[in-house]
Amino acid sequence: MQRQRTLYQLPDSALELIRNRVNPGCAERDAHGAPIPLHLLREAADVGLLAGGLPKSVSGQGYDLCRWGMILEAVGYHCDDNAFPLVVSLFSGVAQTIYDSGDARLIDRYVRPALRGERFTSFAWTENADAFSLASTAVRDGDSYIVNADKFLVTGGLVADAFMTYLRDERGDVIALIIDRGLPGVSVEPVSTMGMRAAGLASLRMVDVRVPATRLLAGNDGVGHVQRFLNRRRVIVTCGFLGRMRGVLEETVRHLDGAIRYGQPLTAMQSVQGAIGRLCIGMETAQVIVHQALQRLGTGDYIPEWDAHLSMAKYYLIERAIEVGEGALRLCGGRGYVTANGIERNLRDFLGFIAGAGAQDILEVDLGNWYISQVQREQWAGR
Ligand SMILES: Cc1cc2nc3c(=O)[nH]c(=O)nc-3n(C[C@H](O)[C@H](O)[C@H](O)COP(=O)(O)OP(=O)(O)OC[C@H]3O[C@@H](n4cnc5c(N)ncnc54)[C@H](O)[C@@H]3O)c2cc1C
Repeated sequence: MQRQRTLYQLPDSALELIRNRVNPGCAERDAHGAPIPLHLLREAADVGLLAGGLPKSVSGQGYDLCRWGMILEAVGYHCDDNAFPLVVSLFSGVAQTIYDSGDARLIDRYVRPALRGERFTSFAWTENADAFSLASTAVRDGDSYIVNADKFLVTGGLVADAFMTYLRDERGDVIALIIDRGLPGVSVEPVSTMGMRAAGLASLRMVDVRVPATRLLAGNDGVGHVQRFLNRRRVIVTCGFLGRMRGVLEETVRHLDGAIRYGQPLTAMQSVQGAIGRLCIGMETAQVIVHQALQRLGTGDYIPEWDAHLSMAKYYLIERAIEVGEGALRLCGGRGYVTANGIERNLRDFLGFIAGAGAQDILEVDLGNWYISQVQREQWAGR
């Protein structure tokens, strides 16, 4: 088996953007909590990195989700800034969801401009509540909705022009509206976080915001709508991390190769070799699992609302990525802890996805429930 045999070959224009313009500002953005600047997101659109799985009829690339995930994995491998594939994949994924609605007005207003790098839409779901107790509201008033909302953590919120926002209507149903940032009553505040500091994480507040009813994306079953979005997102979001953990492990080996201790490089020591071996096993296994999940996304062979194997892929990859991040820190000694070397930054970023895109603890409970019910069903069926 050859190392990296499955890494997607990015076009030169994308590589040039990542290496020469995204990577150089990474440490600075992390230090100051500055979001990936809009001009870099526009350039990402220019080189096709936002077009993802969108069809050619809206100037997309027409890739299936498998190929799109592989591209994001390659972006993660080459890109020092974990926030870049995260934000790019989110804006692209939201555009895909709006496209899937088939609403021509929404597609013209939000999807085509996103692919041109002119208008980006974020995803605003989480508030201080569970799915059944969502407190943000949208009350119909003529041809508008009056919206009051508090969403506490929105990726790309600082640079987004609009928000795919989930709200409870007067019937008690959850609906989804696309809400422009420029409307009176919308305010966005930066949220300081441990990692992913260039992801433009923000809280979102809406006070008596009048939103045209034409911005309705899901008029009922908003919970089903968000489940379908997150089901795919869980796999896609891991792809950048999959590439980055490979990059981190390679950088670690190169560093250890050059570190001479007691007359030999650290890579010649068996305890170091064993540690690298364990991290490598986790990384390669995670790649197999994520690629299998991507293939299912690509062929459409998955349960749209909640697919156990897609959730497992996210869960497994994040645990292995954290191991690689921590392992690199242990192996590189004091150099791993020095901010300028960027090794500790990856661990802080990976840790964000203990909560992000479906909390690991909750996935364990969901997957345990799923497995128990499978066994019970087979038992009742007499198998
Ligand atoms: C980097 C990052 C990016 C994010 N981006 C976005 C975004 O773009 N848009 C958005 O809307 N949200 C976003 N989030 C928020 C994220 O989706 C939530 O943090 C996540 O869904 C968990 O919700 P919560 O924080 O309210 O946790 P809580 O519901 O408060 O849960 C906290 C903990 O309690 C336990 N727990 C809760 N419920 C259960 C249960 N049913 N079973 C077992 N244990 C349970 C778990 O240990 C869980 O981790 C982001 C978060 C991070 C960290």
